[in-house]
Amino acid sequence: MKALRKLAGGEGNVELVDIPTSQPGPGQVLLKVKSVGICGTDLHIWEGRFDKVRPPVTLGHEFAGEVAELGAEVSGWQKGQRVVSESQASSCGACVYCDEGQSNLCPERLAYGYGVDGGMAEYAVVRAGGLHALPESVSFQQGAMVEPLAVAVHAVLERGVAFDQGPALISGPGPIGLLVLLVLVQAGVPTLVCGTSKDQARLELATRLGAEVTVMVDREDLGQASREFTQGHGFAAAWECSGAGVALSAALANVRRQGSVVQVGLAGGPAKVDLDQLTLKEVSLRGAFVHNRGTWERSLALLGEGALDLTPLISAEHPLSDWQRAFELSRDQAGIKYLLRPGE
Ligand SMILES: [Zn+2]
Ligand SMILES: [Zn+2]
Repeated sequence: MKALRKLAGGEGNVELVDIPTSQPGPGQVLLKVKSVGICGTDLHIWEGRFDKVRPPVTLGHEFAGEVAELGAEVSGWQKGQRVVSESQASSCGACVYCDEGQSNLCPERLAYGYGVDGGMAEYAVVRAGGLHALPESVSFQQGAMVEPLAVAVHAVLERGVAFDQGPALISGPGPIGLLVLLVLVQAGVPTLVCGTSKDQARLELATRLGAEVTVMVDREDLGQASREFTQGHGFAAAWECSGAGVALSAALANVRRQGSVVQVGLAGGPAKVDLDQLTLKEVSLRGAFVHNRGTWERSLALLGEGALDLTPLISAEHPLSDWQRAFELSRDQAGIKYLLRPGE
């Protein structure tokens, strides 16, 4: 089968190669992959900027498909069933976090696409315990976006503090920022989204998705726009999705006293942040990292009920053979989310 693999460390070394199709072992399922999303992590692996990658390994952790083969000791699934796979390939199963259903925090957590072969291939072997049925009304393309949606659902519904108590700020209108927006809009929270003038198209999309106000911080005064939007009170909560220290400083400055800030974006290194507002206003600053099984259930329930529509975020779906073009478009931020379609 064709698989897009990181063959060695360093920059590049990503190729579409022919490898034998693996057979599912006990507790595993072979999926015929129908759609797989390109994420920032895949781009970082391609560029040689992600040191957790264990080459040679098949890329891709955002994928949906059909059950093709069942391994031993697997029950409850049938060939041909439409499913999504959680991105977590394994966890220790014995630590306090695994015990409490918070395996996202397990020190031994491994994910598909960098620790274990992932979904940018015609077939993928996954653990049956990480599968979820894809509701009939949800396309494989939206299925491939359940992983980033679950990141947003975790950040808002599970890590947000009293997120529905007042207006919200989102900084960084990339795929995750826009998914955070969808979840907040669905919850009825009035939201301001900010970015830079490079994000103009993404901010326009934010408006179509339900943002009440958008701000380009290099052209407009975010502080003034925030005071107007919140009648001088400040935001109840903010989600920082850009990973820029200056954006976290702005979030701390523009939330109200005892407001909360959830840091979702990764800075990739030490960031310079003005922490005085955190102290003076008693702001709660929290992190949010990926998701747990319960988050996937909540995310799929929202999609299945039709409460959320992810299709406006899908920029294009390319055949797997055209991966390089799709990676380049993703890297150049020419759209929001690019998908790959294996198996043609
Ligand atoms: Zn991702
Ligand atoms: Zn564990």
